[in-house]
Amino acid sequence: MTDRKTWDVIVTMPSRIVTIGPAPSEHHAALWATRLQQQLTGTAHPDGTEITTAPHTSDCDHPDAYETHPCEPDGIAEILRGTSDDDDPEARFPDLYARLSMIHGAYAAPAWSAACAALDNEAEIRDGVRELADLVADAERAVSHATAVLTRLRSNQVYDIELAEGGDGADMLHELDAAARALRNAARVAQWRRNLERA
Ligand SMILES: [Zn+2]
Repeated sequence: MTDRKTWDVIVTMPSRIVTIGPAPSEHHAALWATRLQQQLTGTAHPDGTEITTAPHTSDCDHPDAYETHPCEPDGIAEILRGTSDDDDPEARFPDLYARLSMIHGAYAAPAWSAACAALDNEAEIRDGVRELADLVADAERAVSHATAVLTRLRSNQVYDIELAEGGDGADMLHELDAAARALRNAARVAQWRRNLERA
């Protein structure tokens, strides 16, 4: 039964059928089908894929295409965050980009690009935060190691007279101690930021 005069695009592939809709009218559905048809050229899809239209009925159990295909960067980024892209591209057809282009036409590409840029930026931040915390931790370890070596050189077992006596060795120990304290403070900030990333 047709509730309103809304229409779906039916993508029939050898192993499955995907229904996308409802489009607001038969005309819209035809436009969607045409746009998807055009994408077959540059998009991996199963051999024998056929794209047709049919009335949307009350029996349909597919999600609302407009709700699940927002044409704005935040909404697209949100979907992409929950999607892994390591699947077989044919098995994904029509993928999110193909669906967005199908439904929103020329508006899809800029929204998609902005979403991808936002995700790239998130990834860059995530990587930078991790690298920062690791580097500060490395620096802490290096300073601690230097302190241990210097302490041994000044010890009675080894006794480097230059570092053990006179002020320079003691100054250096003092500087390393100050560096260790500074790095502990830096590490606290780096770790706090890193924990936010995990939350
Ligand atoms: Zn339907």
